[in-house]
Amino acid sequence: MKPIVAIVGRPNVGKSTLFNRLTRSRDAIVADYAGLTRDRHYGNAKFDGREFICIDTGGFEPIVKEGILREMAKQTLQAIDEADVVIFLTDGRSGLTRHDFDIAETLRKRGRPVVLAVNKTEGMALTGVTSVFYELGLGEPHPLSSAHGDGVRSVLEQVFQNL
Ligand code: GDP
Ligand code: MG
Repeated sequence: MKPIVAIVGRPNVGKSTLFNRLTRSRDAIVADYAGLTRDRHYGNAKFDGREFICIDTGGFEPIVKEGILREMAKQTLQAIDEADVVIFLTDGRSGLTRHDFDIAETLRKRGRPVVLAVNKTEGMALTGVTSVFYELGLGEPHPLSSAHGDGVRSVLEQVFQNL
C-alpha cells in the first residue's frame, strides 16, 4: 500500500496548487476564490522515487449558521483519518488566523502526524514570516511556495520522516 498524504488548510491557502504540483496533473481545481474544490480528491504522487497518494481536501465548511462555530467538512475529517501524514497548509501572506488555530486543534485531537507548511512565502524574509506559526503548537513551520516550488523538497522530506 502506498502511504497517504492529505493536504489540509483553510480555503485559498494553496492546497490545490500544491496538490497539482505533487501529482503534476490538472485534476485538482485551482481557483481564485474560496471553496471551489468541494470534495476530497486523490492523486498519485512521486518524489525522489517514492510514491504516495495525495489527497486534496476542499477545506472546511466556511461558517456554520450561527456564525461562530466553525466545523470541518466531514470529508476533510475522513481524509485526515485516512492519511498517514497530514500537510497542514497555512498562508504566509495573510498570516495566522483564528481558523488556523481551530484546524490545529482538530489536528491535534485526531492525532495524525502533521507537517506544518507556510505557503506563498516566495520572495519573503523567511524566518520573520514563519516564526509566528510556532504558535500553532505543531512544531517547526516550513516555508513553502506551492506556486513556484520553493520548499517543496524540505516539506516532503519531513513528510517521509513521519512515514
Ligand atoms: P485552495 O483553496 O487552498 O485549494 O487554494 P488554491 O490552490 O486554489 O489557491 C488559491 C490562490 O492562491 C490562487 O490564486 C493561487 O494562485 C494562489 N497561490 C497558491 N499557491 C501560491 C504560492 O505559493 N504563492 C502565491 N503567491 N500564490 C499562491
Ligand atoms: Mg482547492
